[in-house]
Amino acid sequence: MSDPFPSSPLFKLSPELRLQIYTHLLTFPTPIHLRQHVPGTPHTALLRTNRQIHHEAQAVLYDSNTISLSRNDFCLFTDPVLQTPVETGQVRQLRFTSFGESLACHVLVERCAVCRDDARGLLETLGAMPVLRSVTIDYSTQIANFMRFRQLAAEGGTLVGLTITCVSVGVYRVRGAGFDQVDFTFSHRPLASIWPDVATLSYSLLSEEEQETVLARLRTQDPDTPDKLWLLLWAAQHGRLPDVLGEQVAGAWVDESSDALAGMSGEQRDDAMHGFTVMLQTFLKAHTAVQCRRVLGLLRDSVGM
Ligand SMILES: [Zn+2]
Repeated sequence: MSDPFPSSPLFKLSPELRLQIYTHLLTFPTPIHLRQHVPGTPHTALLRTNRQIHHEAQAVLYDSNTISLSRNDFCLFTDPVLQTPVETGQVRQLRFTSFGESLACHVLVERCAVCRDDARGLLETLGAMPVLRSVTIDYSTQIANFMRFRQLAAEGGTLVGLTITCVSVGVYRVRGAGFDQVDFTFSHRPLASIWPDVATLSYSLLSEEEQETVLARLRTQDPDTPDKLWLLLWAAQHGRLPDVLGEQVAGAWVDESSDALAGMSGEQRDDAMHGFTVMLQTFLKAHTAVQCRRVLGLLRDSVGM
C-alpha cells in the first residue's frame, strides 16, 4: 500500500542524524535576521518543508545562532506586520543592531514603554525570555540614547537595582534587576572591536611597513576607525597626545596596561573607563580617517620617524 502522505527522506534517518544535518545547515557565523534570506545559503528553506521538520529545525536554528533584532521588533506601537516574527521563548543569544527607538515612537511625544529613555518595557520583555543567555546592544549609532539610559540607571528611579559598568573600551556590562544570569552588554561596536587590535599594534615592535599591513587588514573590517585610533595610540606612545586632543582632554586618557587601573576600586575604574570611552567616541565622531592620517604624518615628521 502506498503512503498517502509521502514523508521526507529525512525521516528515514535517526533523530540524532537529523539533528546533525540541521545543525550543519542552520548554524551561521554571524547574527541572523529571521525575516531575511541568509546571504550565500539556501538552507533556511529547510524550515518551510513540513511541520515536523520546521519544529525540529527551528529549535536548532534558535539554539545555534545569535538572533539580530532592534527595538522596533518589541515596540508596543508598531504594527506587528513590520516586526520580525521571533519566538522569544526560544532565543538564547540576542544582538540589537541599534539602540534607537522605533520609527513609530520616534515621532511621538509619549513613546511606548519599550522605546522610552529608560527602556523599561524592553528590559521587562528581555527579563521574561526564559532561555536567554546573552544580549549585546550596539549603541554606536545612538550614543546619546545610551548615555541617557546609563544616566537613568545611575539615578535609580524607574531602573532601580540595575547597574551598568564600563568594563573595557566601548563595552558596558549590565547587572542586577534579574539579569545576573544573562551576559548582557552594551557596546560601541566599531570602537570595541577595533580598539584591542590597534592597542596591541601600538605595543608591538613591528616596522612601519608591518604596521601598515595590519592597519590595511583592519580597514577591511571598518574603513574609518583603525586610522583614527591609530593616531591616538601612536601619539600616546610618543608623548604627543596633547597635540592631538588638547591638554585637558588628553588628561582623560587611560593607559590600560598600567598598574594604576588594577589598583582602582570598581567605581573608580568604571569612572575612568567611562570617561576614556566618551573621549574616544567624541574623537571618532569629530574627525575623518583622512584627517587622522595626515596629522599622523605631520607628527611622524616632527619627531623624525
Ligand atoms: Zn515604541
